[in-house]
Amino acid sequence: MARHAKSDSKVSRRSFLGGAAAGVTGGALSGWSSASAQAPATAQEMRGTQQMRTDVVVVGGGIGGLTAALRAQQAGAKVIVLEKAYEPGGTTAHSEGTVWTANSYEEIRNDAPAGDPVVQKTVFDTLPEVYKYYESIDAPLGASRGGMTRMRSIPPVAWTQFMVKTFQRGGGTLLVETPMLRLLVNREYETIGVLAEGPKGYVRILSKAVVLATGGWAGNAQLVTQNITRHFGSLHQRNASFGGRKPLLTGDGLLSATEIGAAVSEGGFDGFYGHMMPARPTKPLQNPLTNYSLYHGPWSVAVNLFGRRFADETQGRIAGRKLGRGAGEQLICQETARQPEATAAYIWDEAVNVAHACADCGLGDVDKFPAFRDVGASVATANTLRELADQMEKWGRGIPADEVMRTLTEYNTAAKNGKAWALPIPKAIAAQAAPLEKPPFYAVLGQSGITATHGGLRVNALGQVLSRTGRPIAGLYASGVDIGNFNNYVYLGNLCLGATFGYITGVNAAKQPAPRGGWDIGPLISA
Ligand SMILES: Cc1cc2nc3c(=O)[nH]c(=O)nc-3n(C[C@H](O)[C@H](O)[C@H](O)COP(=O)(O)OP(=O)(O)OC[C@H]3O[C@@H](n4cnc5c(N)ncnc54)[C@H](O)[C@@H]3O)c2cc1C
Repeated sequence: MARHAKSDSKVSRRSFLGGAAAGVTGGALSGWSSASAQAPATAQEMRGTQQMRTDVVVVGGGIGGLTAALRAQQAGAKVIVLEKAYEPGGTTAHSEGTVWTANSYEEIRNDAPAGDPVVQKTVFDTLPEVYKYYESIDAPLGASRGGMTRMRSIPPVAWTQFMVKTFQRGGGTLLVETPMLRLLVNREYETIGVLAEGPKGYVRILSKAVVLATGGWAGNAQLVTQNITRHFGSLHQRNASFGGRKPLLTGDGLLSATEIGAAVSEGGFDGFYGHMMPARPTKPLQNPLTNYSLYHGPWSVAVNLFGRRFADETQGRIAGRKLGRGAGEQLICQETARQPEATAAYIWDEAVNVAHACADCGLGDVDKFPAFRDVGASVATANTLRELADQMEKWGRGIPADEVMRTLTEYNTAAKNGKAWALPIPKAIAAQAAPLEKPPFYAVLGQSGITATHGGLRVNALGQVLSRTGRPIAGLYASGVDIGNFNNYVYLGNLCLGATFGYITGVNAAKQPAPRGGWDIGPLISA
């Protein structure tokens, strides 16, 4: 075996140090300041470095990775975090920051019965401990709200900065613009590190444990096309790749682990968490993305480019079950992803506008209609439904007015009789199926925004990645959205998945003993 270079216990980060949101419109991390910077060193340090050695490699700098990294370090391990982008934070830094899940385990099972009960129970049971942990290290954390027992908020950018600084002050190494390419295993198929590509070339990092936290595969065209929709190219990347960056969430955790025999989750691959966003905007969207994210789909009538309803706006394809608050919006967004151009128009009236379109999403009273209009998306407003439909036909991507009217007339007739549930495509929740009759009427054209995929790696309650025979793969852990089937079609939170499994895997990875089979790279992957 070649001699191991010693891991750099100082700081190895480069371009994000100087307020590096440059090039990304309204970059989520514009809070990074050069005042907090330590000397950028990576380019020099990486020159000629072919091999490094550490205890734990964490792959990905979002909540799943940063929580794992700090926990592993505090448990006594030397840790290197690899981040593909030029700054850490991932989707986490773009998020609204609510680290939540449902109030009870029963509720989780009711909402997502096809989800993985081990993962769901672990998240539910561990979350209170994680809030205490964040408090104990003085990480910024807001109070719970809305009667939710499992809901605390992080300020995403400040939280990311705090976690990175604390990690670096403790001697941790963060390598940005250094994507992991694949996992390294020895002849006994134990994970013994990663191959990464730094700015100066390939880097082999040998380690006792690897935590995969690469944020899922929302930006992987092949996987999304195979599993979710053939309209991948029409989806907004409502995640770390927002702002025209090259795709970041390309399934590297999933692909590298399955390459060495990892099992994938038994469900969730056809689903994702997302929101409808402006269709084909002519101006760049600015952070926060929530200003452009629709939340009132369940109260609207959603029509595709043919002017027809295509799914139950209140529950998607799940009929007859009462789901958690806001579930319908995530579901109609998923169904829209499968429509032509991943596009649909939401149509609503003034009653819905006041009660739901400008409020009730828990994110402040942002009026989405002008937000869509101001970035050049197609919008319409009129005092009659006929005038509204005529305007929609004149949109650049015109929707036939007569079809819109046929759909709205059929819907309103059924809704007035309290029979929306009996429509050919039902609208099952009566409270969200009022007739649209109070002018003015509104319509906006939206496109599905994919935030995070649901399918992923199969893990046990310790966060160990399981092989296809069901046993843990030595030295391999997963955290955050790389873990599969916590959410299954219905959405039960995502930050919670990174917070809890980061908390769990960090300590377990730190305890990982040296590989029994030694450090020689095995035949499967000889990098
Ligand atoms: C507008 C918005 C609001 C949201 N609000 C909420 C909310 O309130 N509550 C909630 O629960 N969820 C919310 N979400 C979703 C949530 O933010 C994400 O699902 C969550 O942050 C994912 O965390 P993660 O650590 O798994 O992945 P990420 O935070 O995406 O981090 C993954 C990181 O891995 C890096 N990476 C990828 N491949 C590699 C590689 N090969 N090598 C090295 N690094 C790699 C990526 O660049 C990225 O930085 C929101 C999302 C958005 C966009």
